[in-house]
Amino acid sequence: MKNVTKKKALITGITGFAGSHLAELLLKENVEVHGIQRWRSKSDNIDDIKDKIHLYEADLLDAHSLYQVVDNVRPNYIFHLAAQSYVQSSWASPANTLEVNITGTVHLFEAVRKTDPNIVIQIACSSEEYGKVLPSELPIKETNPLRPLSPYAVSKLAMDYLGYQYFESYGLKIIRTRGFNHTGPRRGDVFSESTFARQIAEIEKGKIKPVVYVGNLEAKRDYTDVRDMVRAYYLSVQKCEPGEVYNIATGTTWKIKDVLDILLSMSKIKIKVEADPTRMRPSDVEVLIGDASKYKRITGWEPKISFKKTLEDLLNYWRERV
Ligand code: NDP
Repeated sequence: MKNVTKKKALITGITGFAGSHLAELLLKENVEVHGIQRWRSKSDNIDDIKDKIHLYEADLLDAHSLYQVVDNVRPNYIFHLAAQSYVQSSWASPANTLEVNITGTVHLFEAVRKTDPNIVIQIACSSEEYGKVLPSELPIKETNPLRPLSPYAVSKLAMDYLGYQYFESYGLKIIRTRGFNHTGPRRGDVFSESTFARQIAEIEKGKIKPVVYVGNLEAKRDYTDVRDMVRAYYLSVQKCEPGEVYNIATGTTWKIKDVLDILLSMSKIKIKVEADPTRMRPSDVEVLIGDASKYKRITGWEPKISFKKTLEDLLNYWRERV
């Protein structure tokens, strides 16, 4: 039998929603999984796999802690998912969002530059960078102008371009993926589909009155199942070109109202829907639909999990937790 050396991956944000799913996928793919976590992380997302992975305490805002981990692990791949990832919080804490997502990324790139520039790094950029998109520009290609509409989007745009600059200036093997929305089990309950699912699960258990509170239901989003998304991240470090940017999306959209209706149809209880003005953003991106043909051509990736199944798994996730 051929003796194949096991590849090593380091995941920033391993305790997060996507990071925990990615860790599970990599373990199945026989990759050695390393991850950084903050001492104060309250996440239970990786409880089931803790004994199969290697964890290190580090913070994006502490350059030395990142350098030590990268130097110690010397991974083949880094998946950079750690971030202040919530658009809504970026309105309340714009400076913190910029600091974690931009300065934190610089710390990571510097750690790689000083240790091993051959490490392939995937950075989780976002469709939010496109921001204001004209109807004539849909579906969105990588070449579309970036017109960010939130501090979060600006922070991701800066991270994206830092990836480009570190590739051009130092030859770092950075692959920039612009993921469109992804969801599924473990999705933070600050995100609309997850807060709907959580509220429905709580109503079913009789914990709250039968009313779901909602924000903007008119926005349209291109949802990928998180398990399809992390499979795309893994393919990206194997097949994509450093320095390049790739949309990852399904190419179909769902109105937030449709998402709510599907979730409501999965419950036997009669539930009222009420608007909650605190859930509205100062400016919201109306439609995000991605053209992932560049990425698909190179990797052969196609989403496999239907959106209905994604929502069902998300609702069942909350039913087991509330
Ligand atoms: P989560 O919010 O679930 O996870 C964020 C992770 O980052 C957590 O593990 C968190 O750790 C960690 N983190 C935050 N701040 C720091 C810090 N200062 N130092 C070290 N770690 C830190 O996000 P998702 O999993 O949803 O998203 C993953 C990435 O993908 C993010 O970069 C996000 O911006 C991007 N993205 C997500 C999309 C989506 O729809 N989900 C769409 C496009 C891009 P802790 O447990 O300690 O809080």
